[in-house]
Amino acid sequence: MASHQLLERVLAAHRAGQRVHLAAELEAALPAAQLRLLQAVAAEAEAAELPLYMVGGGVRDLLLSRPVKDFDLVVEGDAIALGQRLVRKLGGRLTSHRRFGTAIWHLEGLEGDVPAAIDLISARRERYAHPGALPEVSFGDIQQDLLRRDFSINTLALRLDGGHFGRLLDPLGGLADLAAGQLRGLHDRSFIDDPTRILRILRFAARLEFTIEARTATWLGVALPGLGEISGERVRNELTAILAEAAPSRALAQAEALGVLAAIHPALHFDDAMAASLARLPDEVDPLWALGETARIDLAYLLWLRHLPAEAGLAVAAHLRLPQRVSEALVAWSGLAERLPQLSAAAPSEVVLALESAPDLAMAGLAVESDDENVRELLANYAGQWRHVRPTLNGHDLSRRGLEPGPRYGRILATLRAAWLDGQVTSPDEERALLDQLVAVDD
Ligand code: ATP
Repeated sequence: MASHQLLERVLAAHRAGQRVHLAAELEAALPAAQLRLLQAVAAEAEAAELPLYMVGGGVRDLLLSRPVKDFDLVVEGDAIALGQRLVRKLGGRLTSHRRFGTAIWHLEGLEGDVPAAIDLISARRERYAHPGALPEVSFGDIQQDLLRRDFSINTLALRLDGGHFGRLLDPLGGLADLAAGQLRGLHDRSFIDDPTRILRILRFAARLEFTIEARTATWLGVALPGLGEISGERVRNELTAILAEAAPSRALAQAEALGVLAAIHPALHFDDAMAASLARLPDEVDPLWALGETARIDLAYLLWLRHLPAEAGLAVAAHLRLPQRVSEALVAWSGLAERLPQLSAAAPSEVVLALESAPDLAMAGLAVESDDENVRELLANYAGQWRHVRPTLNGHDLSRRGLEPGPRYGRILATLRAAWLDGQVTSPDEERALLDQLVAVDD
């Protein structure tokens, strides 16, 4: 049972049949610039006589006294028209999808600490032509919009336009479930219509430490085969969202226990050893590894899948359409894990030779996983220093010395580099002296 003062107060008022207004709570929860923005949108909606609602995660988090990260705004009417008014009045830029009645209001360039963009959605209803299909959309009212959502705790809404600012709507019993700490689906076909909700429910259960309501758990069980029928990309997006959570292992262990992972792919599973690896996932991947924006998620997949037999890991990676570099790191993993301890005593030039073609992601993974301090130090030296060492002389210098271009160039430059790496030369003068010797020797 979740115990939150605000939630209990609101629930008591709601049960007593009173109208609940959360204007003050919303004002306190949002950073000033965001609040001003929300109020400006609300004023514009009022002027256009369009009922406007904040829905979904933002309302849920407000009631749980958790930070409100973002807000989804639903308009009863034409969200694109509202977006166009907002651009005229406040600036920014609009991209819109006529077919879905949705618009994204891009706010870059606007003053203050405002989000990069805000989604404006026309209230709609959805129909699934067949299980797992993407829904067919038609316009509807706020009730219908809330009915198309995943779990009752995500169906709470706050009306925002005009004098309604902050009024709570709870047509589907979300408040009671929030207070009871339970996740409840809205109807028996929910997971069949959209099997990605199976992974969403596990993510919310783990994050909020909520239980899955008994009937919902039954519906989930029946819908499991659907997970094997939707595209790997859709599954991957949800698994990625789980891996981005603070405690991914909780959700993945529950996924294992409920047969969710086997339904995704027969070779996929989750165990304690995998959880131990994921527990080592750093908040930020060491920038010494050139891995870019998706570094942390790529590393999470690697730390998980590297425990599977090689073929199985690659099959899962292919099914989920994971980036090529995750597969490359999986392929490189065991060979590298074996070689690294032997390299701890090797000269830097030997290390560079051995590691230069190894994928950065695999090395970053081993740097995180290895208990051997020598291995970690070796990898840090390699990534941070050794691999960047180059001779000061280059091909032009060799040609100036009268050497004919050819394979010998590569060998000489490699020898110069190795000499720098291993401390045999420590200055450009010494490097030139070594070059003299190398040129003198017939090769
Ligand atoms: P988070 O805190 O992780 O951002 P959120 O609740 O905001 O959680 P989003 O994925 O941003 O989750 O989705 C926003 C809202 O859209 C949800 O609260 C839910 O009401 C609805 N939603 C999202 N995905 C689905 C889905 N697959 N089926 C039904 N409703 C969904």
